Amino acid sequence: MILTVTMNPSVDISYQLAEFCIDDINRCEQYSKTAGGKGLNVTRVVHQMRHPVLATGLLGGELGAYIERQLQQEKIAHRFSPIAGDTRNCIAVLHDDGKQTEILESGPVVSSVEAADFEQLYDRLLANVDVVTISGSLPKGVDDALYTRLIQQANTLGKKVVLDVSGAALTQTLQSDSKPYAIKPNRDELLAIAAYQPTGDDVSDLQAILNSELFAGIPLIVVSLGADGAFVKHGEMFYKVTIPRIKVVNPVGSGDATVAGLALALADGRDLADVLKIAMTLGMLNTMEQKTGHVDVTKFAEYVAQVQVAAL
Ligand code: ATP
Repeated sequence: MILTVTMNPSVDISYQLAEFCIDDINRCEQYSKTAGGKGLNVTRVVHQMRHPVLATGLLGGELGAYIERQLQQEKIAHRFSPIAGDTRNCIAVLHDDGKQTEILESGPVVSSVEAADFEQLYDRLLANVDVVTISGSLPKGVDDALYTRLIQQANTLGKKVVLDVSGAALTQTLQSDSKPYAIKPNRDELLAIAAYQPTGDDVSDLQAILNSELFAGIPLIVVSLGADGAFVKHGEMFYKVTIPRIKVVNPVGSGDATVAGLALALADGRDLADVLKIAMTLGMLNTMEQKTGHVDVTKFAEYVAQVQVAAL
């Protein structure tokens, strides 16, 4: 069982427009509204791969109820902790040749009692899971060390944590003594937290960054590189993962699909090459669908066979 943690979920609204006109009316016929937030994208992809998954985090208000109904309809197991504030909307406008404009609401303010209630729920849920994924930002009001405590608790029980957060939240977690088993920054997220001036040689830059003190003690680091696949550090070894060229429909959420692949392959005890191939394949399959956090599982075998993992 995989436990996915989404502390600041959202109803994700996606508008597909031929052209996005600023300071004018944009009429839209192609749109979707889904239970979103990075952790719920992970959840959906794990579920589509027919792997047991339980979604947790915080939900409140009308949009919180909407998300619960959607999860119910999709037959996805969930145990969220209730909050008084309203779960947020996030809007993506997809326009002009693959470009996209996003509007992300900051979301509700969570009280210390609500945060403590969630931690108690999390501790109870941990007992029955093998792998935990933690994705996305913390809502306002929750103290910055929450993710560190969630990781510490999982580590104590021997459960692997895949962490997909960015910025200060990532730096703070990496600086603590409780390390996640795996992280999945993309190149920009990695450069944003590394105190490093790139030389322009991608491989040696990435190697130098991942060898720095900040990343010490994390067994698996997967730097996702969009169409270029991934650069990976596992223990002391480095790997380049190469993927085939594909037709991209909507790349939003491909990092989340990659995290889903990491989690389910780790939960299944797969070897490193398989873990990376599965993760990359789910990232690719997500980009080939219109809907965020969706993969066509019937294409899995065709694409996983085309992913290559090479030790450097
Ligand atoms: P997001 O923030 O949109 O969820 P991300 O920036 O975290 O994504 P990416 O590195 O863009 O993550 O993508 C994750 C994985 O998805 C890639 O490693 C790759 O497997 C697949 N992928 C993403 N974009 C493309 C693309 N243009 N072509 C092929 N595969 C892609």
